[in-house]
Amino acid sequence: MPITPFHLGPGAAVKAIAPRHFSFTVFAFSQALIDLEPIGFFLVTGDPVHPYLHTYTGATLVFLASWWLGRPAGEWALRLWNAWLSPAQARWMGYEARISRLAAATGAFVGAYSHVAIDSVMHGDIRPFAPFSDARPWLGVVSVETLQWLCVIAGVFGIAVLMFLRWQELKAKRR
Ligand SMILES: [Zn+2]
Repeated sequence: MPITPFHLGPGAAVKAIAPRHFSFTVFAFSQALIDLEPIGFFLVTGDPVHPYLHTYTGATLVFLASWWLGRPAGEWALRLWNAWLSPAQARWMGYEARISRLAAATGAFVGAYSHVAIDSVMHGDIRPFAPFSDARPWLGVVSVETLQWLCVIAGVFGIAVLMFLRWQELKAKRR
C-alpha cells in the first residue's frame, strides 16, 4: 500500500491522458490483486509484508494476471456500474462496458509496475528488484505524506480532465 485507494489517483491521471487506450477498471483490478499480498500476510501472520508481488518480478505476474482476468472482470463491473446509475448520472459517469485488449494491457501494465514503484518509496520491507538485488533506491525519496498528496492531486487532476472531456462530448452531441 499506500492503502489501495491512493493508487487510484495516478490511474485516473493516466486515464485522463489516454482515455481510449487505457482501462482504469483493469488498472483498479491490478491494485486490488497486488494488495491481496500484504492483506493476506496480515490476516495470517499479523504482519502486512510485501515480499513477492511487490517486486518488479512479481509485478510481471500481476500484470499478466490482470490483463487476462481484469478484462472480463472489468467489463462485468462496468455493466453493473452502468446499470446502477440513473439516466442523469449515466450521462456523466456511465462508461462503455467493452474494454479493448490494448486498453486492458496498458491498464494492467501501468497498474502493476506503478504500484511497486510507489509502494517502494514508503515501505522499508520492499526490495523492488528481488530476487536479483536487495537495493531500495527510492525508499524515502519523498515523505509518506508528500507521496499521498501527490496521489490525491493526480486523482483530482484526472477526474477534472475526464469530466471536462465528457462535458465536451455532451456539448458536441447536443449540436
Ligand atoms: Zn501495495
